[in-house]
Order: sequence, then structure tokens, then C-alpha cells
Amino acid sequence: MIGRFAPSPSGRMHLGNVWSALLAWLSVRAAGGELLLRLEDLDPARCRPEYSEQLRRDLRWLGLDWDREQPPQSTRTDAYAAAFARLEAQGLVYPCYCSRADLHAASAPHAADGRWIYPGTCRDLPEDVRRRQTKAPAWRLRTPDRVVRFHDGLQGEVAENLARDCGDFIVRRADGVYAYQLAVVVDDAAGGVTEVVRGRDLLSSTARQRYLYELLGARPPAYCHVPLLLAPDGRRLSKRERDLDLGALSARWAPEELLGRLAALAGLIPPGETASARELIPVFSWSRIPKDNLILNQQFAE
Ligand code: GLU
Repeated sequence: MIGRFAPSPSGRMHLGNVWSALLAWLSVRAAGGELLLRLEDLDPARCRPEYSEQLRRDLRWLGLDWDREQPPQSTRTDAYAAAFARLEAQGLVYPCYCSRADLHAASAPHAADGRWIYPGTCRDLPEDVRRRQTKAPAWRLRTPDRVVRFHDGLQGEVAENLARDCGDFIVRRADGVYAYQLAVVVDDAAGGVTEVVRGRDLLSSTARQRYLYELLGARPPAYCHVPLLLAPDGRRLSKRERDLDLGALSARWAPEELLGRLAALAGLIPPGETASARELIPVFSWSRIPKDNLILNQQFAE
């Protein structure tokens, strides 16, 4: 069994990242598996090397160790280009010249989760129209009108019709950066990852990723999408919540106090107890982990 942490070095880790990392770590350690660390620094505008170093330090401080580090995504362009070429050889990618404004004018947000579904504007552009374009295109993958199904270890059965619920999606941006959806599949496959534990916000990406596994001839991992931690007003915690980033949290608490609070939220130990990461391994079980998002009240207030 091989699991992974795949944080984006776009800022300091915050409580939500610690929560997902803890559960990914516990799942692997409880099963005696191997854990990979991969820094997802695809987006040069948002990621910085000093954040990567800080992430490694923060994980060490928490006692969440890893067995192997994969090369960061910013060094993997050739591997993504090779995967892109495989998709291109299957006739499945096409250039898209639409701006964000064009897209919003041509489609409506999807009723279920507010996602925008690409209306297919550039899908079958005649060659002469393509040739007249002057700006660099993004590249989209054609999605089939069929249902992708998979089982999620926490969320249960998931089914998504890619054409209807998602639409053709970007695999390479207009600035040449390969999209997260493609990079994550190429990297997890290269690392032999068999279990992906990550936040529930990524559940809606999983059908797209499963489809890419299929097209690239790789075996997909098992998934567990863990609940998100929400602010008392129901908003997602984000890197903007400075009082819940690891700088602020580590100034307030020892790792055992912080992990104890998270473990109580996960239903692994009673509230008020402290625990190191290692002490949580024997009490970890997926059957105890809640599936729905959790609203934080006073657990992480000073
Ligand atoms: N890098 C992504 C993030 O930090 C996680 C991607 C994944 O786990 O697939 O949100």
C-alpha cells in the first residue's frame, strides 16, 4: 500500500491541511504502508520554494514523516508532456480559444455544485478558423457521454457523467502549464500510489482523474475523501485564516495538543486529551472518521 501527501506550497499549512495530512498519514501507518511526499508547485505564480521548505518543517514538527519524496511538479514538465502527447495521439485533445468572459456568456453554472460546464464552443472548430486565431490556446480533453463510477472509502458510491456534469476540461493551460488534473494522475501513477486521502472538495475532480487513468493505461488508486473543516459560519477554512495557520497554531500549542484536538474531532480519542501522531496509529480506523464536513466551534480558539 502506498499513500501520499500532495500539498501545494502556496502558503503556510493551515488547520484543514493538517487535518487531511494527519488522516492520510494515519491510514498508511496503520496499514504498514509507504508514504510519499510530493510538492504540487505547478503554478509558478502562487508557489514559492520557501513555502516548500516550510511545509517539510511543519510536517516534521507534527511528527508526520514520509518515506520518500517525489520530484516536485515544477520539475516534471516532460512527464506531463508525454502524457499529453498520448492523449493527443488518441485525438482526444483540442485547442480552446475561449476567454473566461466568453465562457460565462455562453453557459450557466451547473445547478448541483456551481461548477461551470464548458459548452463545447471550440470542440469542432474548422481548421481554417483555428488557423486564424492569434492567441495561445488552452487544451481541453473531450469527455464522453457516459457515467464514470467509483467507490470512495468514506463517501460511498460516486457516479458522474463527464460530458453532462463536467464538460470538456483543460489539461494544459494557455500559458503552457499542465493542469492539476493531468499532473496529479501522472504523478500518482509514477509513484505507484494505491490510496489517495484528501479533502472532500476534490471529490468532484475524481471522475475526471479516473477517466485520465483509463486513457493513460494506468491503474487508479482507492480514494477516501475526508470532510472539510468549516468556520462557524459554514465557510471553508482557507489560507486567509491566519489564526489557523501552522505559524499561529504552533505558537499556541505543542504538536500533541494540536493533534489531540484534531483526533477528538475525528472521533479517535475523547476531547481534552493530547496525543502524538504515533500514539494515534493503534486507535485509527476509517470506521470512526465522520464523512460530513465539520463545523469548528471553540475547539481551536485560544
Ligand atoms: N495539491 C492539492 C492541494 O493542496 C491536493 C491534490 C490532491 O490531493 O490530489 O489542495
